[in-house]
Amino acid sequence: MEIKNQIVAYFQTNQDKIKAQLVNLVREMVREKTINVVPEKLPEFPFLQFRGEEYRVAAIVKRELNRLGIPYDELARMEERPNIIGRLGKNQTGKRLMMPAHMDIVPPGDGWLTDPFEVVERDGKLFGRGTLDNKGPLASILIAAEVLKTLQIDQQLKGELLIAALVDEEVDAPDGNYGIGFLLANRLINPTMAIVPDIGGNMLEIDVAEKGRSVIKITAIGRQAHGSTPEKGINAVYMMAQLVTLIEKLHFDYTVHPVLGHPTLNLGEIHGGAAPNIVPGTCTIYIDIRTVPGMEKTNVLKLFEKTAQQVPGGNFNIEVLSWSRPHAIDPNNELVNAIKANARKFLNIEPKAIGQGGGTYAKTLNLNGIAAVGWGPGDDNAFHVANEYIEIQQLIDFALMTCLVAVDLVG
Ligand SMILES: [Zn+2]
Repeated sequence: MEIKNQIVAYFQTNQDKIKAQLVNLVREMVREKTINVVPEKLPEFPFLQFRGEEYRVAAIVKRELNRLGIPYDELARMEERPNIIGRLGKNQTGKRLMMPAHMDIVPPGDGWLTDPFEVVERDGKLFGRGTLDNKGPLASILIAAEVLKTLQIDQQLKGELLIAALVDEEVDAPDGNYGIGFLLANRLINPTMAIVPDIGGNMLEIDVAEKGRSVIKITAIGRQAHGSTPEKGINAVYMMAQLVTLIEKLHFDYTVHPVLGHPTLNLGEIHGGAAPNIVPGTCTIYIDIRTVPGMEKTNVLKLFEKTAQQVPGGNFNIEVLSWSRPHAIDPNNELVNAIKANARKFLNIEPKAIGQGGGTYAKTLNLNGIAAVGWGPGDDNAFHVANEYIEIQQLIDFALMTCLVAVDLVG
């Protein structure tokens, strides 16, 4: 308890200094345009030589870790896209808590009231691309590292706290991952647990479960003919129309999950036909499915095949383009308990365990056997939109929580 009081007292005494440092760090990192897009969109950003170019933010992270005397590993599949892992603690217990934040950002898009790369401070908030996703939280984690080091608490941590600034989170590109996927596939990191500050929820939600995601492509195969003699062709759009009607009423076989609830299905795209005077030979749809635990790929595929067979004279090609499994960890896991206890005692807030339909690092980590939850500062509606922002006080609170939770989990 004495250590925790020391931490809380440090944050109280050094409020102004911590705030100024945080704001400066976020400002510096937001200035670096670490935009990550799929390779074919790269020409839209002529100032980029590579997607991401996270080395620009990594330089700031390394400068801070060097200044503080915190050892770190630089792990890169490509020099310009390095992952930086700072290490605090003695690493004697086999308990290693990773706090990963990503350095890449999505493009600014339209609708900004201010320059997205020049942080504006207004009403206690910082506006700019990446202030929330994910450079603000990264700055919080660095501040936490500084506090632990300054108070020499790092020497009392029997386990290890890993301060991770990672690359390549925002995009699934065909050349494979350079960040967490690369690190896990090559066994370059070995945390035993992780808290991922990349979900929003204003620190009131702890993401303990995420649905699986699948994309299914179905093509109706008809026969082309001249538009003046439709009787000679088979119209693939009519064929697909019948299937679409059945898909709208489709019922999955599943058990309602206590946190994730029900699966969802969205028919998001339809393409068919080439000209008014041609009978369309093919028609294609794309379906996004978010699954709950217990739903298997083969069963879902079978359900679509069975449904397709109900279309008279139908001829369909069904492909599962991607399939990721859902994950769910025990809502009474030690990570969740440590977060709840410290948030209640020191911030007077009551975070709740929730599930979500998207996918974060927490999914990747859990599917690799590392217990991970999502928890962090910021408003979930401010991700990937114009005028992205973060509340400064939440960044300070998150830095404090990082210190306190680390003491509980690896102290
Ligand atoms: Zn993010």
